[in-house]
Parts: sequence; C-alpha cells; structure tokens
Amino acid sequence: MSIAATSTIVGSFSPTRSPTGRLRPRMALRSSGISVTPILADLQKNCATPLPVLRHVADAMAADMRAGLAVEGGSDLKMILSYVNSLPTGNEKGLFYALDLGGTNFRVLRVQLGGKEERVIDTEFEQVSIPEELMFGTSEELFDFIASRLARFVEKEGGRFCLPHGRKREIGFTFSFPVKQTSIDSGILIKWTKGFAVSGTAGKDVVACLNEAMERQELNMRVSALVNDTVGTLAGARYWDDDAMVAVILGTGTNACYVERMDAIPKLPDQTLNSRRTIINTEWGAFSNGLPLTEFDRDMDAASINPGEQIFEKTISGMYLGEIVRRILYKMAKADDLFGDAIPEKFSKPFILRTPDLCAMQQDSSDDLEAVGLILNNTIGVASNLNARKVVLEVCDTIVKRGGRLAGAGIVGILQKMEEDSKGVVFGKRTVVAMDGGLYEHYPQYRSYLQDAVTELLGSEISKNVIIEHSKDGSGIGAALLAASNSKYGH
Ligand code: ADP
Ligand code: MG
Repeated sequence: MSIAATSTIVGSFSPTRSPTGRLRPRMALRSSGISVTPILADLQKNCATPLPVLRHVADAMAADMRAGLAVEGGSDLKMILSYVNSLPTGNEKGLFYALDLGGTNFRVLRVQLGGKEERVIDTEFEQVSIPEELMFGTSEELFDFIASRLARFVEKEGGRFCLPHGRKREIGFTFSFPVKQTSIDSGILIKWTKGFAVSGTAGKDVVACLNEAMERQELNMRVSALVNDTVGTLAGARYWDDDAMVAVILGTGTNACYVERMDAIPKLPDQTLNSRRTIINTEWGAFSNGLPLTEFDRDMDAASINPGEQIFEKTISGMYLGEIVRRILYKMAKADDLFGDAIPEKFSKPFILRTPDLCAMQQDSSDDLEAVGLILNNTIGVASNLNARKVVLEVCDTIVKRGGRLAGAGIVGILQKMEEDSKGVVFGKRTVVAMDGGLYEHYPQYRSYLQDAVTELLGSEISKNVIIEHSKDGSGIGAALLAASNSKYGH
C-alpha cells in the first residue's frame, strides 16, 4: 500500500526536444534550479515520507510486533526469542572469542575481560570480506572457510590474552540471518537473506554446522552463545550504558531487537521462566506494512532471490539503496537520455552501483560536481553534464531520505510498543537506542534523516531523552560478553 503525499515539485512543463528528436516535457525544480523530467517528479511524490506516513509506519510496526508476540507466525515480524535473559553486568572476566558472519563481512575477535574495574583489558580483531562464490556454494564450503579463518586467528593469540590452563576457548557466534533459536547455543536457520543462497543450511542448526567445520579444522573451541547481531549490539551497548534498551543494525541488511517483558509474550510456551525480561529479535527486515514503494522497488524485488520477502530491508538497507538508484537512473537514461544517447552495457548490470557510491557522490559539494561525474563514469560507465549530475544527486537524496526516515519510524514503532505496555519505561527517562552497521556508520545524510524522523514523530521534548547513538563495534564485543555470561566455567 502506498500513501499519497503532496509533491515537493513546483514548476511548469515545457516541451523540449531530446538529441534523438523525441518530444518530452521538462520542468524546473524550483529549489535546485535543475531541469528534470516527470520521472523525478513522480519518484519524489511516491517516495515522500511526510509525518502521516511516518506515523502510519510506526503504528503498524508496533501492531505487527504485538501480533508476532501473540502467536507463532502471527505477523511478518517473527519476534524471535533470543534466550538472552540477562545482559552483561560488567563483572565478566577472562578470554573470549567472537565470530561475526554479516552480509558482506566476516569478522573474528578476541577480548580479554577484566571485570568491573578493568573492563576490556585488550581486544584484537580481523575482518575479511566474504568471497562471493561462497554466498552461492554449499554449507560445508562456507563454514569451512569461516572455521579456517578462525583457526588462523586463534594461532596468533599472545600478549595480554591468556586462557587459564585446562580450559577450552569459548566463542560467541554472531549470525546475522533469521534463526529460530532453540537455546542460547543452538538455532535453526529459517532462511538466507541479503543475497545469500547457500545450499544445505536452511532447517539446520547453524551452531552444529560451525562445530562440525571446527572439528574438520581440528580447532578445539566451544560455541557458548549463538547471537543475532542486533542482540550482540544491545549486549555490547549495555556493558557501558544501563539505559540501552533497543539495538538496530543498518548495514548490508537491517534488523532490530529490544528488551521485552516475559509476561508480554503470549506465545511463550513456558510462562514460569525465572526471568522477568528477555531480548526479542524482531527480524523487522520482513516488515512491509504501509511503505511508500515505487515501480523500481517492485521490479527489484521481483528480480531478487527472495521476491515478496524482506520488503523493509529492501527499502532501507545498504545492500539495496544503490540498486534502487541504478534502476531509476537507467530508466531516466532510456526515457530521457539523461546521459546522452549511449547506454553502456554495464549500466544494466544489477548492483553495479553500490550504496557507498551514493554516499561518496552525496559528499561532493563542488560547483561542477566533478566527483559525482567521476563516480558515474567509473561505476555505470556514463558521461554526464552538470544538470545530469544534479538530477543524480536528487535521486540519491530521495531514496536515502526515504530509507533513513522509514528506519526512524521503525525505531519509534518499537519505543511506542514498549511504552504502551509499561508507562514510563522509555519516554519517562533517558533511553539509548544502540545503532551499528556500515550504512549507519558511514552515511551522514542517512543518519540525519533518521534522526529527523524520530524527532518529528516524538516531538522535541520526548526525543531529547531518546539517545540514538552509534555503538562502536558493539556486536563483536557483545557476542564475546554473552559467551562469557554463558560460559560453562561460570564467571
Ligand atoms: P554486514 O552488514 O555485512 O555485517 P557492515 O555492517 O559492515 O557489514 O555493513 C556493510 C554495508 O554497509 C555495505 O554492504 C554497504 O551497504 C554499507 N556501507 C559500507 N560503507 C558505506 C558507505 N561509505 N556509505 C554507505 N553505506 C556503506
Ligand atoms: Mg554485521
């Protein structure tokens, strides 16, 4: 469903002749003084996120969360139990490892924890990008790669890192795909997302997959916690700040988790659990209610390996923003000769324009937009005049603004749901929303659109108490902390 909104375009149509001789209407965009076509005008209209749209999205997010907590399969949002019922206290001690399989990167990390006084004594990490062929290979190939990199990393342990004699190394495994968690250290993969299509993993316990691969590598480690990246981020943020209640990832994909009351989870089979609160992994990437979508979103979805799924993710996260923009520019090139007559072959290649390219273009504040021209040339292979570059920036801004503002509305939806159940739990006091992921970290325009939407929705008074902040490397340390709290040696 899309909600009609007033267009930001003001101007008058005047027919112009293209180099190919076709007649087409042009109009002037008053704010930037550029000559644009109806494609841009339509796009801005269809992607607009005025307050009523944001409010609808926030309300729908809260309602879908409730439906997903009521019964299994009750909503697009799976509202998965994390089995993390207590967050780090600061007392955690010892050497712990973490392994983080995201959508683009794979990270290994070790941390020496020193308890309340010393906190993080030392930490080291390594990051490798995931070879593309592994995204389409077999489960064994992917997990063997992970285990072999982990083994290499463990070999280099030394310095201030120290494992007490006779103990097995323990690891927190951050796995950023939807998993039906069955305990703190086991979970079944529901499906791959973010472009992964690995065979033989869906329906399997991903911890068992990792354990088997570690055995094949003769790596003697124990997975003490299987952690979603959002849950890791929340744990990492809580280690430093008691007010952290929500965590959101905006990287290749997107997801969010939050602290929930046990008695607000009707679908919980066993209400006698000895904890009052737990962390719920919303899997909000699957949200789809009331989003302002366009033909470009629908076409991209139809061509994806998971059509009809992860619609929120496809609208707001890093994997997709660049591709949406490419599809729009491609249409403008064909219909309006935005870049002249020639349309290079590579321009038609999906995902050739990436979100970091949009970001780099949007940082160009020079008069002639030289960097924009260079990036367009290097990525999609086109030459551009100044007007075309300005149009490109308008397109980027439209898509990034929609993404950031919708992400902000999603966050408000979560806060709203928490507040409705326990008055004062978020809006009556300082509340921290811990953010992580490459998109949030590196894209200043996206960040500020997100914050704008939160402020607009909550009003200036309440939003002063809602602190949305980047949790630097939260999820890695968080997974190690959860491995510590679930250590078989106690802590
Ligand atoms: P993952 O999602 O794989 O765990 P990250 O959180 O590091 O990994 O996010 C990587 C994603 O962040 C990239 O796929 C990209 O979409 C986005 N990203 C990375 N750098 C930038 C940038 N400079 N500008 C905008 N987006 C970026
Ligand atoms: Mg990640």
